[in-house]
Amino acid sequence: MSEENNDEWKPDDESIEWAKEHLSQIAVGGIWSPEGSGVTYYKQSEDTYALMKLMEHPSALEHHRKMTKMMEAADYTVLEGDGVEYVQPPLNAEDAANKEHMHRQEMAQTWACSGCDFPLANFELENRIDIFIEDKEILLSNGDTQNVEIWACEITCPKCDKKINTDPDDYHLLAGDDLFMRWTNSEHTRFMALNRSMLRELVDAGGSPIVIGSFCPDTNEKIPPWMWGVCVVRLEARTPKKRA
Ligand SMILES: [Zn+2]
Repeated sequence: MSEENNDEWKPDDESIEWAKEHLSQIAVGGIWSPEGSGVTYYKQSEDTYALMKLMEHPSALEHHRKMTKMMEAADYTVLEGDGVEYVQPPLNAEDAANKEHMHRQEMAQTWACSGCDFPLANFELENRIDIFIEDKEILLSNGDTQNVEIWACEITCPKCDKKINTDPDDYHLLAGDDLFMRWTNSEHTRFMALNRSMLRELVDAGGSPIVIGSFCPDTNEKIPPWMWGVCVVRLEARTPKKRA
């Protein structure tokens, strides 16, 4: 474990901007728990987060120090009260991954609409729209760079009609595999990914799946990366086609 000079570590402008945007989107009463960090915060008021859970691990403590600096740089107050729950780290990697996933699913159930506090879990999640944001070059740990496509999953609040862009991983946590692995083109045709047993049934019945590349076979629109290379079938349109 690297013992960096924690006192000298400072968040860069980009992460401060990110923190401002991300932390303001969490409703009061909501929870922020960055993946793999071992630390969980509770949003106590519009400008205050309180430490809620901390894993008893040196990395978690280091994350907490850095995130506190980042939150403070983004104009939030960070409280460390007496009510902090200290959690024992899991003993093996599989256990850790399961725990982390369950924890993140629990977190997802607490997310709420930033307009009216209606829980995101109760949105009509099957009606999402995938939006391509940008191409981004990311630096890999071996020093190489790789181009990745950044996408957002747009969902609409059934109560206040606010459109909310969620990170695809967050949408996946909220909605589960079945809904995540679907995609709808602009003509309202829905493509649904097939698992192995569905694929076997289709092929045994004489059908053939469509294999998805990075563009829609009907409209040539971009398809989000999590659907690439997946076998799909077309589902009937839910909404009638709108024609001008
Ligand atoms: Zn709302």
